[in-house]
Formats: sequence, C-alpha cells, structure tokens
Amino acid sequence: VILSFLCTVPGRVRVAVRLRPRNAEEMMADADFADCVEVQPELKRLKLRRNNWDSDTYEFDEVLTEFASQKRVYEVVAKPVVESVLDGYNGTVMAYGQTGTGKTFTLGRLGDGDASDRGIMVRSMEDIFADLSPDTDFVTVSYLQLYMETLQDLLNPANDNIPIVEDPRNGDVSLPGATLVEITDQQSILELLRVGEANRVAANTKLNTESSRSHAILMVHVKRSVVDSEDVVSTENNDASRLTKLSKPVIRKSKLVVVDLAGSERVHKSGSEGHMLEEAKSINLSLSSLGKCINALAENNAHVPFRDSKLTRMLRDSFGGTARTSLIVTIGPSPRHRGETSSTILFGQRAM
Ligand code: ADP
Ligand code: MG
Repeated sequence: VILSFLCTVPGRVRVAVRLRPRNAEEMMADADFADCVEVQPELKRLKLRRNNWDSDTYEFDEVLTEFASQKRVYEVVAKPVVESVLDGYNGTVMAYGQTGTGKTFTLGRLGDGDASDRGIMVRSMEDIFADLSPDTDFVTVSYLQLYMETLQDLLNPANDNIPIVEDPRNGDVSLPGATLVEITDQQSILELLRVGEANRVAANTKLNTESSRSHAILMVHVKRSVVDSEDVVSTENNDASRLTKLSKPVIRKSKLVVVDLAGSERVHKSGSEGHMLEEAKSINLSLSSLGKCINALAENNAHVPFRDSKLTRMLRDSFGGTARTSLIVTIGPSPRHRGETSSTILFGQRAM
C-alpha cells in the first residue's frame, strides 16, 4: 500500500510508455532497418533514433518493453490507481497513441482465448469486485463512447446524446441517463465489455467511422459501506445513543475511469474534407485540451482548463486534486512512423 501511494502522488500524472512488438508486416518491410526506438527498462529510459548516428533519450516513470506481459502492465500502470479507488478516491487510467500501437490491446483486451491476455479494463474490474463485501458494497459500470463531442451509451446505443452535468457544490460529474449495470459476478464483467464492444462496432458502422476516431470510456463506480474508525474510538464515554449514532456505517463513493483515447495521428488537412476534416478537428480539440489539462497539473497551475472539451469536462472529478491518474503512451517500433512516435513521446513527456 505504501509503495503504491508513493507511485501515484495525488495530482501528478504518472506516465508509462509501452512499445508494441513488430507485427508481421513490419518484420517484412523493415527487415533491413533497425527499430526507431531502443528501450532501457532498468533505467526507465527510451531512446528515439534521430538518424544513423544520433538519438534522443527520454525518461518515464516506467518503460514497458515489447516483452512486457499484460499482467505486468496492469500492475505498473493501473493497480495503484485501482487500490486508491478502493480506498475511496477517484482515479483515471488513459491510453494515448497512434492507431495500431496497442491502446485497445492494453486496455480493452478480454482474453477470451487466453486469460493471460486480459487487459486493464477486465483486470481492474476483477480486482475491484474481488475486494468488495457482497452484502454491503456495490460496483456499477457505465461504458460510453465520445465521438465528435457527442456522448453515446455503449450499453444502450439508442441513448446517443448524454449530457455531462457538474454538481456546483462539490464538482462531482454525473451523466444523467447513462446505463449503470451492477456487477454481481466475475462472468458479468466480460459480458458487459463484450456487449459494449459489439455496440461500439455497430454504432461506428452507422456513423461511417472507425473505432479509432472516438474515445471509449469505461466508468466503474464503487459504493462501499464503511465505519469511520475515528468515530468508533471517540465513543469511549459509553454513551449508548452516541455510540449507535457514530458507529453507523457511512456510504463512501469513488470511481475509476478508463479511457481508450482516439488515435493521436495527425490527419492531413490536404487529404481530408467535409466530415473527415470535422472529425479530425474534433479529435484534435479533445486531445489538445486533455494535453493542456495534464500540463497544467504537471506545472501545478491553479487554473486547469477542464471546460474546453467534453472529454476533459467528463474527467474533471477524476483527475488532479485527490484523484490519481495514470497515462500510458503506446508506440510502435517502425522507422516509418518515427514522426508520430516522436509526438506521442513528447505528449507523455509534457505530462510529467
Ligand atoms: P490501437 O487500439 O492503438 O489502435 P490495437 O490495440 O488495436 O491498437 O493494436 C493493433 C494490433 O497490434 C492488434 O492486432 C493487436 O493485437 C496488436 N498488439 C498491440 N499491442 C501488442 C502487444 N503488446 N503484443 C502483441 N500484439 C500487440
Ligand atoms: Mg483501438
């Protein structure tokens, strides 16, 4: 517990980078080329090749090589956040990177064929569910997609214009009308993610877009019944009425938000027009406003510009302050995508 506390200091974003192994196509096409990145996990460093002679070196909180298992990635990136959610704090885990670099593999993989493949969403929900007392605690889950500044319920796709409401008293964010499914057993976790993923594919076919052009957002709400131990200690005076009053359990709420961000690749304005251009602008808006909020937190600025996009408005209560946030940036090894890899690395660096 102490270790995970040190790992995720509240308010600061913890940043890991994960390198995807070469895929079959890259093995063929890049056979005569060296990968454009070199990882030094013990030093928590990554080198990005500039040319045959020079490279730039970057440090991260954690560097995950192409051999890192899903289990290890979960333990490093998400587990500290999950533990703090179980302790009553909000938290966020996000994956940022170019399409095809492993964001969905890292977060959304179900591990149907091979349980060791399970990604962060399944593992987080399993760990949360396993820790709760079935009689007094509850886990409910929403699964949403944010596309072109419109929020759609992936558990009920007909519900495709969900408002984001902020409680002026405490800053809590709520999504009125979004489906909340209670998790009652381990099996229903996979079922829920499967339904959400199928709806996401169907919804995007209807919208005539790729899944990589929207953000997928899983919200896990935890409600625990806890007895405040300080109150119990303070009942030594044996006053019976006071004892019952103070030892009455209180409901403690917290939530974990897991965000599979839209692909960060630049969409070239020259080649896109109409809808494609609008889509690109919308993604740029949400990713750049996310970047600005992360930078403001990293620099301890009093003003964090949450209001600039729906993505950041949604994350407002799970980001900064007492919340714990973990960002994983995903990159591929191919020298052909060096430019995109470089901008992904810089996004991660600015967050630290
Ligand atoms: P993204 O969501 O960023 O677009 P995906 O998660 O869909 O990328 O990954 C693209 C492809 O690479 C998929 O076929 C996926 O299975 C594979 N892949 C990604 N990361 C890994 C990894 N660490 N090990 C093995 N295969 C991976
Ligand atoms: Mg994806």
